[in-house]
Amino acid sequence: MAAVALDPDRQELARRYAFKRRLLFTAQLTAAGLYLGLLIATGAAITLRRSIAVVTDGAPAATVGLYIVALWLGFAVLSFPLDLAAGWKLPRRYGLSVQTLRQWLVDHLKAEALGFAIACIAAEVVYALLLHLTDAWWAVASVLYLLFAVILAHLGPVLLLPLFYRLTPLEDSDLSASLIALAQRAGATVEGVYRLHLSAKTTAANAALAGLGRTRRIIVGDTLLDQYSPEQVEVVFAHELGHHVRHDIPRFIAVQAILTTIALFLANLVLRTGAARLPGYQGIADPATLPLLALVLGGVGTATAPLAHWLSRRAERAADCYALEATGKAGAFIATMIQLANQNLTVYRPPRWVEILFDDHPSIAERVAMGEQFARLGRCR
Ligand SMILES: [Zn+2]
Repeated sequence: MAAVALDPDRQELARRYAFKRRLLFTAQLTAAGLYLGLLIATGAAITLRRSIAVVTDGAPAATVGLYIVALWLGFAVLSFPLDLAAGWKLPRRYGLSVQTLRQWLVDHLKAEALGFAIACIAAEVVYALLLHLTDAWWAVASVLYLLFAVILAHLGPVLLLPLFYRLTPLEDSDLSASLIALAQRAGATVEGVYRLHLSAKTTAANAALAGLGRTRRIIVGDTLLDQYSPEQVEVVFAHELGHHVRHDIPRFIAVQAILTTIALFLANLVLRTGAARLPGYQGIADPATLPLLALVLGGVGTATAPLAHWLSRRAERAADCYALEATGKAGAFIATMIQLANQNLTVYRPPRWVEILFDDHPSIAERVAMGEQFARLGRCR
């Protein structure tokens, strides 16, 4: 295994890229908070419902539907410059995105349409529950969220991912045979190994485990398959296999369901003590409370992100350890990590606060250290 060195020039670029990404992310989050906060504080949330109710004659489902259209469209337009900067301009300037503006716009529109469809269904269901089950709405909504998340995880690799990327079964028979043998040795059944055609959009390399039940599959980007040695691909595959063996997707869904239940419970308290009593609102099922509901749910999501990131870093560490134990290839593992840092512009050793607030993977430095420990001691725990 040829030694791969960390590229100091790429690290300098990586630090600048990470700083700008954090800046844009913070701006996007602030813009969303301000948008919702101002709608509530200025009374525009109520004025909007009054205007819509004139058109819908106050019919609840139609009012909620038009309200979410207005709320979504308003934010999609206002946040477009930031979305463009974060999603296209920045990664393009740093040589990570290879998309034309037109291609990015098509993807962005598709993502917005998908997000809108989900938000629309969620709002209709939640406000129907608020109307008919005033006390238990948040508990029923939590159960429905869990069901929805499970369905979405099943559909993800067969329905959602193909909306954005081409996905084909891995054709390299030697490689796929050795990967499937690795899975069998681990006692894991994986539905298939797929090549994700990332190179049409990005220069970055990636791999993932996706799906649930019969749609569960390991997906490896062509940017990884074509530029890394079979040993390196095997190590990455073993990492994804580690997620599978540890049931990380069901665990992730369970954590999200618990956090969502807490968020919905808090939203219930806010709606009851706040919106239901403030002048202008017509009780908790008033569609004018949509910005308030979105603010509470988004606020809880933002506040609990460090916890979710921490749990994710733990799962990633365990998957790394699994990959090392399953393959025994510490050299290939370390080389892969360093090559990924060079290629994807990942900061080797980010400040601790950055890791706590933003990172769902351990730092490359930490992952390399685990590989080195495994090489020395034959264990990583
Ligand atoms: Zn992982």
